[in-house]
Amino acid sequence: MWFVPEKEIAGLMTPEAAFDAVEAVFAAMASGDAYNFPVVREAIGYEDALYGFKGGFDRKGANLGLKAGGYWPNNQKHGLINHQSTVFLFDPDTGRVAAAVGGNLLTALRTAAASAVSIKHLAPKGAKVLGMIGAGHQSAFQMRAAARTGSFEKVIGWNPHPEMLSRLADTAADLGLPFEAVELPRLGAEADVIISITSAFEPLLMDAHVKGSTHIAAMGTDTKGKQELDPALVGRARLFTDEVAQSVSIGEFQHAAAQKKISDSDVTAIGRVITGDHEGRGDAEVTIFDGTGVGLQDLAVAGAVVELAKQQGKAIEVEI
Ligand code: NAD
Repeated sequence: MWFVPEKEIAGLMTPEAAFDAVEAVFAAMASGDAYNFPVVREAIGYEDALYGFKGGFDRKGANLGLKAGGYWPNNQKHGLINHQSTVFLFDPDTGRVAAAVGGNLLTALRTAAASAVSIKHLAPKGAKVLGMIGAGHQSAFQMRAAARTGSFEKVIGWNPHPEMLSRLADTAADLGLPFEAVELPRLGAEADVIISITSAFEPLLMDAHVKGSTHIAAMGTDTKGKQELDPALVGRARLFTDEVAQSVSIGEFQHAAAQKKISDSDVTAIGRVITGDHEGRGDAEVTIFDGTGVGLQDLAVAGAVVELAKQQGKAIEVEI
């Protein structure tokens, strides 16, 4: 089997390669060539940790396996980041383990790639202003991936903890884009594309904030109880997601679904837009992509990075 250590990922995987891998696997999910296994996520009653598995099989991309890991809130005392994960790939022809790949940076890249794929396929034409809600670790990856998709001329941003906004300002400066910190009503009125990537448990972006033709990538909600958007906003938008069952149970759309403002049939898998089976934005004023994060995204980027690592002599081969 092959090992690709976490420290090698930054030198191997590019946002472009992550985008291509995630776009392809979303299409494979829509055409029935790939499916996700039920998610396991457990509070293990030790070190306040949340641990789990996200797995699946992509017949077209020949990726079978799982990402194992979770959230260890006390990791600072070990000099480690709180999110820890490893991807394990298996040979779909034999069942033998094929690779173990550091999953921390890959998680950030695949999450950013998902919102970027949604922007490519759903954003209003000529979108110029990118609005960022959230300024944590993921936000910089999100902004970088979004900036690659088109013609943004400016970034505006808001965060519940304003002292963190320097991350958005620094990232925008790095991308050569002007940045302005704004309040949410201005963000909702001016942004053509909005990315939300927070750990909020109450709606931040309200229906009344959002004006005109807008695409929203709601990326923070990946667990029951989390919430970033007003269900009334969800109720009036055209809705897309990575996986419908996950979006209405643990994703952003769980709240509008619970309030019966939407049903499963109102939500379209984005893969259908990628394959041309659905028109996408059409004449909708507001579109929302609920990025819940599926195991197949992890397998797709891990599969791509194993190939790159083998080509560049960075993969370590061991017998198991
Ligand atoms: P982080 O801890 O670095 O940053 C947290 C962000 O949320 C900051 O903007 C912070 O100000 C804000 N925040 C924290 N507590 C809040 C609260 N109670 N109410 C409102 N906002 C709050 O986290 P990160 O790594 O940037 O991840 C952000 C979110 O994205 C997390 O909730 C994480 O679980 C989620 N995530 C989703 C996916 C996916 O595939 N959808 C993948 C990775 C992470």
